Amino acid sequence: MTEMKSSARHGQGRGCVITRRACFSASHRYWLPELSADDNAARFGPCALAPGHGHNYELIVSMAGGLDADGMVLNLSDVKHAIRNEVTGQLDFRFLNEAWPEFDVSNPEGCLPTTEALVRLIWQRLSPHLPITALRLYEQPGLWADYLGHPMDAYLTIRTHFAAAHRLARPELSQEENEAIYGKCARPHGHGHNYLVDVTVRGAIDPRTGMVCDLSALQRLVDDLVVEPFDHTFLNKDVPFFAECVPTAENIALHIADRLSSPIKAIGAHLHKVRLQESPNNAAEVYAEAPKLEMTPAALDAVAAV
Ligand SMILES: [Zn+2]
Ligand SMILES: [Zn+2]
Repeated sequence: MTEMKSSARHGQGRGCVITRRACFSASHRYWLPELSADDNAARFGPCALAPGHGHNYELIVSMAGGLDADGMVLNLSDVKHAIRNEVTGQLDFRFLNEAWPEFDVSNPEGCLPTTEALVRLIWQRLSPHLPITALRLYEQPGLWADYLGHPMDAYLTIRTHFAAAHRLARPELSQEENEAIYGKCARPHGHGHNYLVDVTVRGAIDPRTGMVCDLSALQRLVDDLVVEPFDHTFLNKDVPFFAECVPTAENIALHIADRLSSPIKAIGAHLHKVRLQESPNNAAEVYAEAPKLEMTPAALDAVAAV
């Protein structure tokens, strides 16, 4: 074997995960014929308004396999064609409620075209063609669903933010000792961050509403239990929990998870993960359902972090 041939075979057979991003724009409306107009409005808010509204969706397809002799898991043009034929070509510039028969709610088996219901159907259409390991569908930058192929289980994430100050110091230590541990973060008068909080819930997709849980109820919980008490505060002084506990990103993420876990159960879902980003350079992630750590393939998060 020549040296050139052996370098051409480099990596052949070894496993790799690849991702492909695809975008489409589509409209939808949340409206169930068995509910009155008032009940639809109460249940779905502005999403019930006729004739609907639209989103610029972003789909991330994660695929795994061994490298071929050409150094690829899959030929990217095959990947592009499969996504176009099965998904974006059918959905782009369409009204989702009418684009796929599964979203026809005049049929009692039909369900609303929510992000989580849509990502599950995309899985069903793509999986015969591509070795998918995970899908992520962004409805907007602050709302996305992940689907890993479990028949009814999906993950829904909402992103929100708050601004707060903190100081990292343990009260029993001297200023010098604290600065040795926490550096500039131990300076006596604190400093601030614009925190981003991603709350991920897991649950079964309701066969009729297409939802893992009531999205507005989830948003209210995060607003009431996290944003409202934390926003524009000095965490160490204004949030009693942090009078005793050093408000590192890790501790804040854990505390948010502890605050949200039971209330999220009460609305029918499970808190899966809290990700707290303190700055573009550091974030902390807490998995509330350990050991379910397999949920987020690193490739998806790498894309999400861009
Ligand atoms: Zn919408
Ligand atoms: Zn800080």
